[in-house]
Amino acid sequence: MDTQYFDATTQKEAGTALGGRIIRGGGLVAFPTETVYGLGANGLDGSAVSSIFEAKGRPADNPLIMHVAKKSDVKQLWRHVPDEARRLMDAFWPGPLTLVFLKSDIVPDEVTAGLDTVAVRMPEHKTALALIRAAGVPIAAPSANLSGRPSPTAAEHVLADMDGRIDMVIDGGPCRVGVESTVLTLVGRPTVLRPGGITREMLEQVIGSVDISPAVLRPLGEDEVAASPGMKYKHYAPDCEVVVAVGSARKVANIICREYDIAEAMGKRCIVLGTEQNRSCYHGMSCDIIGDRAMPQTLCASLFAALREYSGTVDLILAEGIDERDQGLAYMNRLLRASGFTVLRE
Ligand code: AMP
Ligand code: MG
Repeated sequence: MDTQYFDATTQKEAGTALGGRIIRGGGLVAFPTETVYGLGANGLDGSAVSSIFEAKGRPADNPLIMHVAKKSDVKQLWRHVPDEARRLMDAFWPGPLTLVFLKSDIVPDEVTAGLDTVAVRMPEHKTALALIRAAGVPIAAPSANLSGRPSPTAAEHVLADMDGRIDMVIDGGPCRVGVESTVLTLVGRPTVLRPGGITREMLEQVIGSVDISPAVLRPLGEDEVAASPGMKYKHYAPDCEVVVAVGSARKVANIICREYDIAEAMGKRCIVLGTEQNRSCYHGMSCDIIGDRAMPQTLCASLFAALREYSGTVDLILAEGIDERDQGLAYMNRLLRASGFTVLRE
């Protein structure tokens, strides 16, 4: 299959109009959102949705997110719209917040992997919204990467994984947030199943106390059931070892410098994923300063691109851990998964 490439900045309407036709015809279109690139299919067509799983090599029990272009579209996808959802949609939609609630009958089992709930989000991205409108149906979409690889935050990442496996990619430039949406279930106590750009602190200002799923910062035990099936799979793994140093800014830099020397003496190629605060600590070392400890959103925005860049070109990535406050929770969730929970502390 040839994958058509469209640049959203120069071919905007033609690209989304064609993308909408492809989706209505049962095809697959990768598109930019503010979080990461999504791989979309007609969310009301079970067999189109199945081809997403095939193209990604995604386990069949990992459900997808339905993307809508207006808030009122959730009414057709959920059994009813709970009051908390209305308040959250008013506060954060369009935006990087996915809400999970009981599904209606029109949602195919392929989208929900057989669950009786469905995840819905309205993205905050002109091209994504134009594509959903052009398709005229909700678009079911996971991230547009091969299963297990870091999520794509640029069209070239999508092509690196999916060229020849999907019908089209629409290039909207780099993604602003850079990590996938926050997933919040409203079945039972509101619980964050996956942290993202909309933080626990922001959610609590609107609906009061919110729980965090235990699987967010630690691996699931063998007998534990994943509230969000995606949590149980290996994720975001580059083709090299990843080690996360945790502690204060200074301790983290000490650990990284020590480990770097040890690894280098063993002949390993290393790269440090560091922060502005510790820039001067890594003098003479291979280092990529990917953000600022005081602004975790800057680290979120560049993590996946860095994991892809160094995948296969180094033997070891030494990454700085940060506080799990605000967007720091999303950053640590992705980084810990990418490392297979390999953590060093002093
Ligand atoms: P992706 O966008 O590729 O990260 O995949 C969608 C994520 O949403 C996965 O981690 C799923 O586990 C999660 N998800 C989708 N639908 C549901 C649902 N009904 N209940 C809980 N989690 C869900
Ligand atoms: Mg994904």
